[in-house]
Amino acid sequence: MSLLRIEMLGADVLRQKARAVPAPGPELERLVADMFETMYDAHGIGLAAPQIGRSERLIVVDVKDGDSAPMALLNPVVVEFGEGKDRVEEGCLSIPGVVATVERPASCVVEATDTAGNAVRLEAQGMLSRCLQHEIDHLDGVLFIDRISPIKRKMVLARYRKLAEK
Ligand SMILES: [Zn+2]
Repeated sequence: MSLLRIEMLGADVLRQKARAVPAPGPELERLVADMFETMYDAHGIGLAAPQIGRSERLIVVDVKDGDSAPMALLNPVVVEFGEGKDRVEEGCLSIPGVVATVERPASCVVEATDTAGNAVRLEAQGMLSRCLQHEIDHLDGVLFIDRISPIKRKMVLARYRKLAEK
């Protein structure tokens, strides 16, 4: 296994709509293992393939909430959002050092393919729901800073640039 370089805010790949991942295979298994290693090394709870420079619809998630196992999902799609919303502080490995409170639907249903090629359907709540929505956003070139008010975004970006200068 090896650590992958995480792309930072400003990289074009983070703003592209990723393409579907073909059927799983050995190459994909290796990529998934590397993505998990990279995510854990960076102390993250989720990582999307565009963040390591690959514009493909693949995410890994481990929210460590005691209920859900680590998972790798191919071509994940949110097929349903719950009615309730919640507001939770989010960060992103591609925008390190800053966080912001983001409002999202509190629950969602996600359909995807697992690394064995099986169709999976997940009913997610709490941190898992949030993390899945954040990572699936990455596959469409959407970042958490796009989901906060313009004023908040300006503040977060100013702080990020200040940190990046150091
Ligand atoms: Zn992120």
